[in-house]
Amino acid sequence: QLDQYDNNTAGKIRVFCRVRPVSRIEAAQSEAIVVHKVDDFSVTVETPRGQREFQFDKVFGAEASQEDLFHDTNRLIQSAIDGYNVCIFAYGQTGSGKTYTMVGDKEQKNPGIMPRSFNAMFDIIQQNSNKFDFKVSAYMLELYNDRLQDLFVSQSGEAHAQPQSHGQAKRVEIKRNRKGVVFAQGAETKEASSAQELYALFQQACANRHISATKMNVESSRSHLIVGIMVESKNMTNGSVNTGKLSLVDLAGSERAAKTGAKDHQLKEANSINKSLSALGDVISALSAELPHVPYRNSKLTQVMQDSLGGNAKTLMIANISPSECNLDETLTSLIYATRVK
Ligand code: ADP
Ligand code: MG
Repeated sequence: QLDQYDNNTAGKIRVFCRVRPVSRIEAAQSEAIVVHKVDDFSVTVETPRGQREFQFDKVFGAEASQEDLFHDTNRLIQSAIDGYNVCIFAYGQTGSGKTYTMVGDKEQKNPGIMPRSFNAMFDIIQQNSNKFDFKVSAYMLELYNDRLQDLFVSQSGEAHAQPQSHGQAKRVEIKRNRKGVVFAQGAETKEASSAQELYALFQQACANRHISATKMNVESSRSHLIVGIMVESKNMTNGSVNTGKLSLVDLAGSERAAKTGAKDHQLKEANSINKSLSALGDVISALSAELPHVPYRNSKLTQVMQDSLGGNAKTLMIANISPSECNLDETLTSLIYATRVK
């Protein structure tokens, strides 16, 4: 087992903070930088009322590469293969770098956690294929306005769908099996036998997500992307079977909706996102406070993520933030959300 943290990270939630570089637009506007990395474990933020400091399990500054980030994430892939439920999710306002962190840049010159995890997973599988029979399968879902959508199913039949009628096609419901493992009933689960195959499935899912978002005239950053990868390993010597799961989640943007000028569907969307993100925050803080009751059932998001939060699961939250003054309010909100879980 590569994961030397096995005994002390199961059931715990670790939180990383990643500060993205100043964007070209921000640089052109000579935006002031208000977030500073102090050391590997803390950032300070200059607010009109003075400096505030926030602590994390790890802080990644603008100079941190995708490799740097994955270096500290890699061991969780081994954990999923060892039979743990692992969840890695990115939280933050739109434009803060969630998709960059989870998926990478558009051209995939700087791949993020997902493609790297796929490679790492199949590398480990290959190294152990003389002792274990592995089976890898995945579901890929989108959660929009409290409706789950199977991203393996193309939305092409819904050319004239209104935002409200999103997801007429097929109902996906979250269920749990006897072992408490979440599965998406009604959604397809597809097998992959290599990192390339898994990545091809992911690309297919992203294409369907894009089509459905375009048809509804909404931004895909207004929905949650949920990728679940199940790894089953059968010990060839004694026949015992172990199942782990890696959940990778690119959450919808956490920003509050502009109160003025928002259309009906935008308000509905914003309320739904707020509700799900605050339900997630409630679950996480209940877990870290070790409260007897964890309110998983308050939203679909926490239901989908239930088997990857608490219990014996290993959870990594990455709080993505912008360094610039123009985003100060949302940055503070995100930092407070992210430190509330500790
Ligand atoms: P989000 O998914 O949170 O809305 P994105 O990941 O799309 O944000 O990031 C917004 C823009 O900033 C994208 O063009 C992205 O490539 C860029 N970006 C974000 N984080 C980084 C980073 N760490 N290094 C370089 N570019 C980044
Ligand atoms: Mg995004």
